Amino acid sequence: MSQPIAIAIHGGAGNIRMDKMPADKQQSYQKGLENAIKVSYDRLAGNGSAMDAVETAVTRMEDYPLFNAGRGSVVDHRGKIEMEAAIMDGANLEAGAAVGLERTRNPVALARAIRHHSQHIMLNGEGAENFAREHSIPQEDEQYFITDHRYDQWVQLDEQGAVSLDHNAPQGGEEIGTVGAVALDGNGHLAAATSTGGMVNKKYNRIGDTPLIGAGTYADNRWGAVSTTGHGEYFMRLVAAYSVISMREFGGMELTRATQLLIHHKLDKLGGQGGLIAIDPSGRICMPFNAPGMFRASMRNDAQEPLIAMFDEQTND
Ligand code: ASP
Repeated sequence: MSQPIAIAIHGGAGNIRMDKMPADKQQSYQKGLENAIKVSYDRLAGNGSAMDAVETAVTRMEDYPLFNAGRGSVVDHRGKIEMEAAIMDGANLEAGAAVGLERTRNPVALARAIRHHSQHIMLNGEGAENFAREHSIPQEDEQYFITDHRYDQWVQLDEQGAVSLDHNAPQGGEEIGTVGAVALDGNGHLAAATSTGGMVNKKYNRIGDTPLIGAGTYADNRWGAVSTTGHGEYFMRLVAAYSVISMREFGGMELTRATQLLIHHKLDKLGGQGGLIAIDPSGRICMPFNAPGMFRASMRNDAQEPLIAMFDEQTND
């Protein structure tokens, strides 16, 4: 049999309920997920690498204002955005990440440039965005990123003095979420990427799990690739993405068991909420979560159509 190719994406987890979401809103999410999964799968099918595919998927979702990454990022307690992203190549364990971004249109593209063109893994704030300009990575004005909905969401939460997962925050319009992708390409290489605006009303300069290699993002060709979403402080304490890999490597577990244990045992026990997407070298995809819903989609070369799902009752892992 030929080498399988496969990709999975997420658009965040949280209080995502079918009975709370009007049909037109469901269609908008469906559209955003469908577009990202199809375009990125086409890259894989056209001999693109896993790194190309995850960057393409995440870029599409960063550009789609319904998701909490790039355009449409949530607002911190000053009313400003700070975005972060990471990407990891399972073929050589090389990685790039960027945090504290205010102007970079596609944080995932900057993370990949840092992996390729610097001797470092993570750059922060002004230094990161100067690096982006030096490498011709597009920058935008603040107005590009902050949608009216984000501003209203923040005003409501700030009045309560609360910090929240995007999908659990008071909603002036759409529910939205952190984005991520994992992929297996035709050469058997795996990659993972994750991008976010973080938590609504977070303290400025707060960094979450998303850009941390091992917590929010990890890939190793031998065992799998993982991208997480949810309350970052919990995923950081669990070193969640790498925990899945090490349960496989040192505990001999199948991907399904390792990802279920992480979400439904370790994360539950700690009191955290969220989910993850993961893929193994055979193309098996797992997408467990312990929140009411998680925006997600996947596509494999043995399927005719992508699988696109949002709610608990449509679990597919
Ligand atoms: N994990 C992200 C963070 O804590 C939030 C999310 O996934 O929605 O920054």
